[in-house]
Amino acid sequence: MRESMWPYDPDEFESLVTPPAGANHDDAWYFPYIDQQILCVSEHGSVRPIDADAFRWLQIEVDAEIYLGHYRGRSCFAVAARGSSQEGFALMDLRGWLGRVDASLFYLAGRAKQLVDWHLDHAFCGRCGAAMEDHPQDRARTCGRCSLISYPRLSPSIIVLIRRGQDMLLARNARWPTGMFSTLAGFVEPGESIEQTVHREVMEEVGLKVTRLRYLGSQSWPFPNSLMLGFHADYAGGEILCQEREISEARWFPHDDLPDVPPGTAISRWLIDAFIEDQRSPAANH
Ligand SMILES: [Zn+2]
Repeated sequence: MRESMWPYDPDEFESLVTPPAGANHDDAWYFPYIDQQILCVSEHGSVRPIDADAFRWLQIEVDAEIYLGHYRGRSCFAVAARGSSQEGFALMDLRGWLGRVDASLFYLAGRAKQLVDWHLDHAFCGRCGAAMEDHPQDRARTCGRCSLISYPRLSPSIIVLIRRGQDMLLARNARWPTGMFSTLAGFVEPGESIEQTVHREVMEEVGLKVTRLRYLGSQSWPFPNSLMLGFHADYAGGEILCQEREISEARWFPHDDLPDVPPGTAISRWLIDAFIEDQRSPAANH
């Protein structure tokens, strides 16, 4: 298996629900979200989080502050807020951070976004309608009346590159405006194993059978709360039959003659690059 796309580094980020005793927030970073958009410092085309000093003077209304833990020694907070942008700041879609900040910082901002969304969506109990409050220890919201506990929701999905000899299968999604081709993907259904999802999605989308599934890695994708699990699988049989309204075209491509594919920040590209690397390595002719 290849190294993870995003290796775990406990020295870089530690996830905490409550600040440790005596924690100092003087150089904290704040990630305020207003209507799904992140408010950040914007200077000469670069972006960065808002520090404690700037946050203190921001003219916004804060509905909730959620402690995230510390990142490179700084306390970090996700903030549910109302208001508008101000001079020196930008209010933008988090996708605009991709490629403009360190990957780890993008994922931290994505973590903040998902926790803000979850917090706002769980102001009231989904079962009895009473007000929810923060759980004292866990990252959770609890109902004081019926004791329902709500944890932040994730939606697991699979993404798979199908290999046939020296070719890979790539497809064009019917909803994409451009001519870009990518790997197949879909959400896990209740009651399914991840492996069953891979087989079902491949059959539904292109009518093929696959075998020898290999898990390569995962990617968190905060739009809105996906966790994508990436696989390679070998072609096992069938003729390509594209799912109507979902897939407009699917074809086999040799590793050295690719169409437009997603950028390097996407796990699909990582799966494609892993296949190319395998084909070019001396051990490829197995
Ligand atoms: Zn309740």
